Amino acid sequence: MNYHSIIAAQQDFFNSNKTKDLSFRLAQLKKIKSLLKQNEEMLYEAIYKDFKKSAHETYLTELSQVYHEIDILLKKLKHWSKRKRVTHGLANFPGKSFIIPEPLGVTLVIGAWNYPYNLSLTPLVTAIGAGNTVVLKPSEIPTHTAHAMATILNENFDPNFICVCEGGVAETTALLEEKFDKIFFTGSTTVGKIVYQAAAKNLTPVTLELGGKSPTFVLADCHLKNTAKRIVWAKFLNAGQTCIAPDYVLVEKSIEKEFLSAVKEEIEAHYDQHKIEENYLQIINDQNYKRLLGLIDARNLYMGANTNAEDRFISPTVLQNVTWDDPVMQEEIFGPILPVLTFTDLQTAIDAVKARPKPLSCYIYSDNTVQIEKILNEVSFGGGAINDSIMHLTNSKLPFGGVGMSGMGAYHGETGFQSFSHYKSILKKTSWLELPVKYTPYTDSKKKIIKWLMG
Ligand code: NAD
Repeated sequence: MNYHSIIAAQQDFFNSNKTKDLSFRLAQLKKIKSLLKQNEEMLYEAIYKDFKKSAHETYLTELSQVYHEIDILLKKLKHWSKRKRVTHGLANFPGKSFIIPEPLGVTLVIGAWNYPYNLSLTPLVTAIGAGNTVVLKPSEIPTHTAHAMATILNENFDPNFICVCEGGVAETTALLEEKFDKIFFTGSTTVGKIVYQAAAKNLTPVTLELGGKSPTFVLADCHLKNTAKRIVWAKFLNAGQTCIAPDYVLVEKSIEKEFLSAVKEEIEAHYDQHKIEENYLQIINDQNYKRLLGLIDARNLYMGANTNAEDRFISPTVLQNVTWDDPVMQEEIFGPILPVLTFTDLQTAIDAVKARPKPLSCYIYSDNTVQIEKILNEVSFGGGAINDSIMHLTNSKLPFGGVGMSGMGAYHGETGFQSFSHYKSILKKTSWLELPVKYTPYTDSKKKIIKWLMG
């Protein structure tokens, strides 16, 4: 693919102003939704080939999320796209001030592999909704899903509006040499830095949706059964390959034993210990499979670690007596391994989290308002939940994004629309009246009026 000519063609199409038209945008979103619906079977087959993800979980965690985002855009776009009138001071009398949301232009969306449809298509529909054109570069790791998206979108849209470019590091590097008006990247912190550097050459604004180690505080007063249930579900969903999965648990020492046995009970109730099934999938590739095995220290094994290399299967695994110095605590796990650390003093646990890069998410299981507020007040993280994990992502009214090493910018709902828009500020003055007060000579009376006007 000649990226330069695709981007030039998108620039021309954007300059025709067609994408700014609300009815055009709404029609394209409806078209994307109906294409996805028509091709659901093909999308399910592709993802199953990539990592044996079941149709139901693909619907639940991927397609339904994209449909939901499209539905919100269809409902709210008109309102979000409106000029907004704002007040101004006497200095600008007589006149009015308003803000015009405008699309940024030609955008590049780079996706990650772990939720390949959701993480590529949600930013894509948001960019389209805001009136941009899109070059989408899905992750090459799940090759079948990348190809399915390319087939559906490239066969049904003109590349001067939406173009899916398949490929890996070489193709992404070549794309990043081009000039875009916005880059939306989902992936690792390491590659996020490469994207940020490439964008800096053209002062291109970026949204970086990155990863990190998301802590989960379990305090002694928590509802033990529901805490274990929610953590187990969130950790082992997608076989732990979720950016906002609870990476590790910090449990109060006094309930460590009860917590571990409640976790064990939940795992045994919901997961087969020896095979892939509808609610449990493969590790994405051999490289990650081997990396994850290297993080399981047999001395800390509480349960799990049943493996099958041929199927890239690792059963839900829990590690106990883990310390901050263990290998499993040195990198984002991104797999079905749950290390459990203990604490006796909450401040010490908070300080340990704060000494590390700011996480994408943080979860607190407790009803103790004082302690909850202490954690919320002291620990900086992208977003999170109290007495739940992951589910904050399902509310489009909550901006979704990281902070520090876990990312910059956010999306979902109106925040997504804003991240693909520029807000142009306009002052419109009345032409027929001109007050002399700002002009020279600066007489005493004018000075007095200026001071009175400006405060
Ligand atoms: P990754 O950074 O390896 O790859 C992401 C994208 O970057 C892919 O499209 C890939 O082709 C491209 N890429 C890879 N290496 C590159 C290079 N050297 N130069 C240019 N482009 C390159 O990430 P991944 O393995 O696909 O995803 C896992 C990471 O993403 C985890 O850290 C996870 O936490 C994070 N993640 C974050 C979110 C979020 O919403 N914040 C969601 C999912 C995953």
